[in-house]
Amino acid sequence: MSPVLRGGLPWPSRFPLRDITLLPAQPPCRRRTLIQAKTPRRDASQPSLAQARTEAARLRREIERHAHLYHVEDRPEISDEAYDALFRRLQELERIHPELLTPDSPTQRVGGEPLERFETVAHTAPMLSLDSTQDADEVRRFDERVRKALGEERPTYVLEPKLDGASIELVYEDGVLVRAVTRGNGREGEGVTENVRTIPTVPLRLRTEERAAPAFVALRGEVMMYISDFEAFNARLVETDQEPYASPRNSAAGSIRQLDPRITASRKLDVLVYDVLEVRGETFATDTEGVDAIREWGFTTPPRLETAATVEEILAYHAEFDAKRDELDYEIDGVVIKLDDLAARARMGTTSHHPRWALAYKFEPRKEVTRIEKIAVSVGRTGVLTPVALLRPVVVGGVTISRASLHNREELKRKDIREGDTVRIQRAGDVIPQVVEVLHQEAERSGPFEMPTECPACGTPVVQDGPRTVCPNRFGCPAQLKGRIVHFGAREALDIEGLGEETAKLLVDRGLVQGLADLFDLKRDQLMELEGFAEKSATNLVNAIASRKEPELRRFLIALGVPEVGVAVARDLAAHFGKLAAVRAADAETLEGVAGIGPKMSAAITSFFRDARNAAAIDAILAHGVEPEETEPALVPAEGADAGAAVFTGTIPIPRSRAEEIWRSVGGRVVASVSGKTDLVVAGENAGSKLEKAEELGVPVISFADFVRRVEDLGGSVPDADEPPPGGSRAAPSRGSASAADPESPEG
Ligand SMILES: [Zn+2]
Repeated sequence: MSPVLRGGLPWPSRFPLRDITLLPAQPPCRRRTLIQAKTPRRDASQPSLAQARTEAARLRREIERHAHLYHVEDRPEISDEAYDALFRRLQELERIHPELLTPDSPTQRVGGEPLERFETVAHTAPMLSLDSTQDADEVRRFDERVRKALGEERPTYVLEPKLDGASIELVYEDGVLVRAVTRGNGREGEGVTENVRTIPTVPLRLRTEERAAPAFVALRGEVMMYISDFEAFNARLVETDQEPYASPRNSAAGSIRQLDPRITASRKLDVLVYDVLEVRGETFATDTEGVDAIREWGFTTPPRLETAATVEEILAYHAEFDAKRDELDYEIDGVVIKLDDLAARARMGTTSHHPRWALAYKFEPRKEVTRIEKIAVSVGRTGVLTPVALLRPVVVGGVTISRASLHNREELKRKDIREGDTVRIQRAGDVIPQVVEVLHQEAERSGPFEMPTECPACGTPVVQDGPRTVCPNRFGCPAQLKGRIVHFGAREALDIEGLGEETAKLLVDRGLVQGLADLFDLKRDQLMELEGFAEKSATNLVNAIASRKEPELRRFLIALGVPEVGVAVARDLAAHFGKLAAVRAADAETLEGVAGIGPKMSAAITSFFRDARNAAAIDAILAHGVEPEETEPALVPAEGADAGAAVFTGTIPIPRSRAEEIWRSVGGRVVASVSGKTDLVVAGENAGSKLEKAEELGVPVISFADFVRRVEDLGGSVPDADEPPPGGSRAAPSRGSASAADPESPEG
C-alpha cells in the first residue's frame, strides 16, 4: 500500500505488540529430569514437542503472511480476532516448549529485555550521503555529466522521494534478520536489532514465495514516523508533561535508539526500504531489479518509484511532489535521482563523499508567515546571548513553530527585525526555524531591539566578541549550567534519555545541580518532588545517568564541552591518546601531532584543561566513579628501517586508516596514489584504477593476507584480521556503495 493513504487510516490496534504479557525469557529447564523421577505429567491438551514444532512453524508462516497482507499490502484476509487467536496460540506453544522459540518468531516483536548500551557496528558497505541541490540547472549539469560518462549509451534514471527519516541498514543471512544498524557516521552505527524487530513491516524472515532468499543481503531503508502518528504521539507527550520531539524524523530516530525495545515497540514506526547495499548469491543489473527483489522479499518500498529518461521528466516528477508535499503523511525534503544501470554507476564511481551517479534534488525550505510577539534573549552553554523571536504559533510542514532564532545582534540589525513585525519564517528538516524577512510592519513600530548590557540569567555585564554578545560568568551563570547539563546528556555526548531542557532548568532552579558532577548524586525521591516527574520517570533518569559511568572516551570528551571539540575531533583525540589523563596532560605541541588539530584548536583545548575550575569540575565527575573507557593509544611510527611506500585500494577487512597506521608502525610509508616510486599496492576487493595503474607500472600488488604476513615479518601484527576477507561475490557492482568512499558529512 502507498503510505500516502495512511493519513486517514488508524494504525492497526490489533497487533498485540504491546498488550500481550511478555514471554518469560527462561531457557529450557535442563534440571527437570534430575529432580523429577517421573516424566512430568502433561496436560492432555498439550501437544508433544514434535506436534508443537510442526504447528509452531505453520503458525509463524500464517502470522507473517497475515501481517504482511495487513501492513504492507493493505488487504487483510482475516479479522483482528482471528489474527490474535493465531498469535496467542503461538505464544502458548512457545511457552510450553521454550526450545521452539526462534529469533524470527513473530512473538519476538514484543521487544526483549532492555540493553545496557548499543554496540558500535561497522556497516557492510558505506552508507553514503548524496550530493544535493535546489537548482534545476544543477540537475541539467548532472544529466550532462552522466551522458558524457556513458558515451553512446542513454541513461535511465530512477526517481524516488527523498524520505526525511532515520536511515538504517538491515542485514539478512539465509533469509533471517540478523542485524539492524543506524547510519551513524556512514561507516559505522549502532546495533539496534532488537528494536527493529518490533517494527511490524520489517520481515523477520524474508518472504520466499516469489524469490529465493540470498545467502546474504544488506539493505538500506528509512525508519519513518508518519506525521499523523507523530502529532498524536507528541500530544500524548505534552499531556504527560514530557518534552515533545521537534520533528517526525527526530522522533523516528529517537524511537529507534531506545535501550528498552518495549518502548520502541510502543511507537508507531514504519521502515521503507529502497536500496541493496550488498548481496551475495544474487546479482542485479539495475537498481529497478534490486527494488523488485526488495518488494518480493516482503518489504514496503517508498511510494512512486519511477524511471525517467530526460531532465524534463525529472523536473516534472519533482514539481509534482513539491506541490503535493503538504498533503503527504510523511516528510520528504526532495527527490532522489539515481542512475539505474549498476555497471554504469561503477564506471562513474564516487568522489570522497558522494556517488557521482546520484543527486538529491531538494525542495525549497518550507516558508510560512506569522507575527513576532516578542524578542527574547537566551543564554547558551558557552555564554553566548542569542536573540530569539517568540512567534504567534504557526504550522510549517506538519510541525508547530513558536520560536525562531535571530542569530546575533548584527543579523538583527541587518534584517531590521522588530517586535510586532509580520515575518516570513522557514524551516528545513531539523534545522532551527529562521526568520527570513520582514513582510509587514505595524503602523506604530516598536524601536529596534537592543541586546541587553547584562546577562538576563545572572546579571553579569556582558562582553562583545565580534558579532557575538557573551556572558563571561562561566561558572556562576545558571543559564550556562543548564546548557552544559543538556549538552552533557546530548545524543553524541553521554546520550542520557530524559535530560532535556525542561529537566535541566528544574534541576538548576531548585539548586539540585550546581555542577555536572552533582548529576550523579541525584536521588529518585528528589526528582519525584519536581514538577512533571513520577516514580517511573524519576527512576528512569537516575538509572540512565548511572548507566553512563563507563562512557567511551570520545563521548566523554564531547560531554565536557571542550571548546573546538566536536564529534570528529573527539574521536581523533580518543583514538590518539586512548586515556583521559593523556588528553588532559597533552601540551599544544603533542595535540598538534594529531591529524587535523591546528594551533588555534590546540590552544583552546589546552587552556580548557589548564583552567583550575575546569580541572576541578572534571575531577569531581571522576570522583563520582565515572571512568571513561581506556583504549590502546594509536600506534606510533617505528624509527629506523623503511618498509616501503604502500598504496591501499579496494575493500579490505579492517578500516583502511587502521591498516595504514599499522603499516606506518612497522616502518612503512603510506602514499595516496600509485607512481614509479610506490613499493607495493595492497589490493582488496573491487580495487579499481589504482590496481590498473600498478599493473601498468609493474608495481608489486599484494593481497590483504600477504599484507598481514608482511607486517608480521616486520615484527608487527594486524588485529582482527585473522578471518579471511568476506567471501562470496558482491552484487555487480555493489549498489549504492563505493569501496573508496569515506563519508564523513552528515546525510542530506
Ligand atoms: Zn550569565
